[in-house]
Amino acid sequence: EADRALLQGEWDEDGAARGEKPLPVLAIIGRPNVGKSTLVNRVLGRREAVVEDKPGVTRDRVTYPAEWAGRDFNLVDTGGWEVDVAGIESKVAVQAEVAIALADAVVFVVDATVGATATDERVVELLRRAGKPVVLAANKVDGPSGEADAAYLWSLGLGEPHPISALHGRGVGDLLDAAMRALPEVSEHGELRPTGPRRVALVGRPNVGKSSLLNKIAGAERVVVDELAGTTRDPVDELVEIKGVPYWFVDTAGIRRRVHQTSGADFYASLRTQAAIEKAEVAVVLLDASQPLTEQDTRVIQQVIDAGRALVIAYNKWDLMDEDRRPYLEREIEKELVQIQWAPRVNVSARTGWHTERLVPALERSLGSWDMRIPTGRLNAFLGELVAAHPHPLRGGKQPRILFGTQASTRPPRFVIFATGFIEAGYRRFIERRLRETFGFEGTPIEISVRVRE
Ligand code: GDP
Ligand code: GDP
Repeated sequence: EADRALLQGEWDEDGAARGEKPLPVLAIIGRPNVGKSTLVNRVLGRREAVVEDKPGVTRDRVTYPAEWAGRDFNLVDTGGWEVDVAGIESKVAVQAEVAIALADAVVFVVDATVGATATDERVVELLRRAGKPVVLAANKVDGPSGEADAAYLWSLGLGEPHPISALHGRGVGDLLDAAMRALPEVSEHGELRPTGPRRVALVGRPNVGKSSLLNKIAGAERVVVDELAGTTRDPVDELVEIKGVPYWFVDTAGIRRRVHQTSGADFYASLRTQAAIEKAEVAVVLLDASQPLTEQDTRVIQQVIDAGRALVIAYNKWDLMDEDRRPYLEREIEKELVQIQWAPRVNVSARTGWHTERLVPALERSLGSWDMRIPTGRLNAFLGELVAAHPHPLRGGKQPRILFGTQASTRPPRFVIFATGFIEAGYRRFIERRLRETFGFEGTPIEISVRVRE
């Protein structure tokens, strides 16, 4: 509870989560008493000793704006988090895991005079699983004679141990240089838009009207690439300016060059679709409104979701729609597309140009959701209310409790929920539904993963 309160209050207050400049986040983690707080104070250049003798003292801030070698970043201090001595191992693991989830890179502090302990090994496992960049600090190397102790820490398998003395400052500069190399330029938690025009894939089974639609949209509006300074261009991508805003339509060669219907053509078409989706930020899946939905259609939609891209559904050939087909189409949408009710749908006619101007607002909405980040405090207020009103069902006398949640990344939004037990798929879907009701997320897939902790 203490961790949660701390993180709720403080994470949002500082830096990235406020939606200002999304600073990268560096977390300092490690067992109690290895010298994390001492290191934090050293990095922040604080004179006053904030280090407490007594374990279990909760400090009132956990993230601090910091700077090294001209780089700004947010420093997460886990040193003051409450430590329950009895349950020390699991506590350290939860704290470390939360910090790792929130961080872009991690400094893992080990006490070189003690060597690697079982708890350290457990943290290493967490680090491996999280896949975040790690810089290993071998602390309490106060003089050259301690260097040998540091070398033993190669055995942790985290690469070079950086011998430091947080207390005296020895080696801390080199450690921070390494940390800066590990840290990305901006936080993955930020809503930074990519530089350059957004990338759109126009996908769908053969003959739904992809090339007709592209021609209609592009029309006379094709842009000379040189007009856009600093863009690198793949020859198969096409820059199209719509109402003054340029967009990359990716892999348009695949759309324009009609693939001959030889054997295996489907297979290659599907690979090409996959490649286009992966290259894009948002996919417009074109469906033929005049024909029944096919398995191939739903497969393309699934490809977009699996790739974690923003999605817009466009029903083409609406000019061929007759009123008799209408109810069938509605029923298909209810039955076959129920899982993607969150995707915006537009009805268009590539032939007549009817409603094609509605495509761009739809894909901008989807991209906006794809970029969206829910601040940790708001997310946990939401989770708290949800759990209070609709607790997870009891299973075998047990009821998993949700401890804390955070949005680990955007594009697409990915949530990590820490719980005391297994969260059923049905309840996970319930959480997703409520997330969408509360925050929108129109047009983007959402991922929710659960970490089980005692
Ligand atoms: P935390 O629990 O990981 O935050 O550890 P602290 O920063 O509170 O440090 C625990 C103890 O180790 C304190 O008594 C520090 O003074 C001491 N300590 C921290 N860094 C060093 C160091 O580089 N050398 C020595 N000799 N002691 C240190
Ligand atoms: P692609 O294989 O997905 O690129 O599809 P095409 O753009 O080549 O279109 C396949 C066929 O559908 C062509 O004969 C088009 O003229 C026709 N078509 C495309 N869009 C529309 C539309 O909105 N209405 C009608 N009636 N026909 C269309």
